[in-house]
Formats: sequence, C-alpha cells, structure tokens
Amino acid sequence: MTIREIFENEFGQECEVCGAVRRVPDADVSVGVERDGQFDTKVVQLPNCSSCGAREFLIRSADNEPEHPSPGSFGHRHRLMVDVLHGKLVKEGRIADRIDPQKAQGQARSSEELDRWFKGRLRAQRMKEQEGGIRPEPEPAQPPQ
Ligand SMILES: [Zn+2]
Repeated sequence: MTIREIFENEFGQECEVCGAVRRVPDADVSVGVERDGQFDTKVVQLPNCSSCGAREFLIRSADNEPEHPSPGSFGHRHRLMVDVLHGKLVKEGRIADRIDPQKAQGQARSSEELDRWFKGRLRAQRMKEQEGGIRPEPEPAQPPQ
C-alpha cells in the first residue's frame, strides 16, 4: 500500500504483498469504503494488484491525530503523502456516492509544510533505498563520449 510518489493525475504505488510497483491513475480510485452500512471516508481503496491480486487501502490521518513522533521519517512523509492524495481525490470529486465531501475532507496540508519535507517533489523512499542498494529509478547510463 506504500505510495512512492504523487504525480499530476496518477501516483506510484508499491504492493505490500508482492512488491510490484505500478502507477495508479487518480481516475481508478475513490474515497470512501462501506463497512456494515457505514461509510469510512478516511479510506481510499486501491485497485487490485495486477501481479498478486492483493486488495489494499490507504487511510488518511485522523482529524485529531497528534504530530508524527519522528518528523522527516519515511512513516511521517508517507502519512503526509496519503493525506495529500486523499485531499486531492476529495477535491476532484472522486468520492463514493452518498458521501458528504465536507465530512470526507481531512487535515489540509499547507504548502509550507509540504515544502519543508518534500522540496517540491512528493516522493518517499524507504531508508534502505536512500542508503544505496536498491534504487527504484536508476539513472540512465551515459553513452560513452
Ligand atoms: Zn501484489
């Protein structure tokens, strides 16, 4: 369920089960999942993984959720990204029928807050990737001069 990066009209997502990385268009997801006749407006359901069939969800932070215990960590940045994506979907009207957009909207993340942690690019990588080793998008090799 990990979001890797948010783009204009889609986002990169990594399957928690099989590790497949894909791009999901905003148009393929919507906010709100029905459970026992009640809508949970914090949940974004992702399309099934095309590799392993896993059904995953993203859940935005609660309205009264305290500050993340370790600012700048992967978990903190990922939470901000989920909030941003959720808010974007609500704004675009990608919400389940019968949900009040006012109630669905979560904490607004200011551009100052996002700039501070993302420097203009909504992207999160796990520590092991930042430290070298696995890189999701390797630089293209330079042709010999
Ligand atoms: Zn999968």
